[in-house]
Amino acid sequence: MAILVTGGAGYIGSHAARALRRSGYEVVLYDNLSAGFRRLAQGFELVEGDIADEARLRPVLARVDAVMHFAAHAYVGESVENPRKYFRNNVLGALTLLNSALDAGIRRFVFSSSCAVYGVPEQSPIAERTPREPVNPYGASKLFFENALQAYSRAYGLRSVSLRYFNAAGADESGEIGELHDPETHLVPLALAASTPNGPALRIYGSDYPTPDGTCVRDYIHVNDLADAHVRALQYLENGVGEKSGGSLAVNLGTGRGHSVLEVVQAAESATGRPVRRTIGPQRPGDPPILVADPAKAQSVLGWTAKRNLADIVSSAWAWMQKNSSSS
Ligand code: UDP
Repeated sequence: MAILVTGGAGYIGSHAARALRRSGYEVVLYDNLSAGFRRLAQGFELVEGDIADEARLRPVLARVDAVMHFAAHAYVGESVENPRKYFRNNVLGALTLLNSALDAGIRRFVFSSSCAVYGVPEQSPIAERTPREPVNPYGASKLFFENALQAYSRAYGLRSVSLRYFNAAGADESGEIGELHDPETHLVPLALAASTPNGPALRIYGSDYPTPDGTCVRDYIHVNDLADAHVRALQYLENGVGEKSGGSLAVNLGTGRGHSVLEVVQAAESATGRPVRRTIGPQRPGDPPILVADPAKAQSVLGWTAKRNLADIVSSAWAWMQKNSSSS
């Protein structure tokens, strides 16, 4: 069975590709390398192309059985500044991919969604039935595509799983691949970099939140736990479970445990054995105080739970960062 992984040269897509291969699937990566990295795709067939390019997609889709769709712009702040870019790629481009997949006879689709679809929920932990009220164009683009999948499932029998990630972090234990973004805006790599002699100090976005230590609380989930959940989602679609109840499922992927920014800083200090230089800055606009998943549905429907904790996340990210800096 062959799977097309769009965004397969990106951070999460490249980890999912390896998890798929470990589970015996044939994998074809599809990436326009606008945000992806050729080195993350090493050892895999990589088709360079855009998800909006129907002609490019057609022959590739003809030889796969399912699609895992990761290719998307994913900076919340940028989506506020430049919504056009986000709706063009995450909605228009993604619909071209979806329609092309449908035309190619594909009926199984796994989608990278996000806890950003919930906006600023009042309750924590967040269950899937929480109203979806995104507060930025990035979240809105993810919500649109979830709705498209639901409509396509009713109308055309396309079966799909939308996986709503909380905070993905960490690196493959092999040290071969890990988090790469340009620019890097995420907490774990920035905290680790701030413990190195030449790295810039970490700016903590706000210490006056209504949380135990005043910094934001997030649910950090190891990228390989996410990757394993994608394999489970595909197996769920293959097994035809839930076929009668309509074919579009949405599931949170998180650990159910929250950690504050300061706890992540402490974990980074334990991993590196060095202090993380930091300053306290103002809150980042749009950051809710607490986002923690209720992961019960992932457990009951997909049989999946996160196996790795914050220490595993930070130590794997640190191993990757050290290897990466010595090899580049
Ligand atoms: N954060 C921070 N300083 C940074 C980057 C992030 O204090 O330089 C905080 C941010 O406010 C949030 C958490 O770390 O509470 C995780 O942010 P990140 O950008 O990694 O992921 P996001 O939650 O935006 O997806």
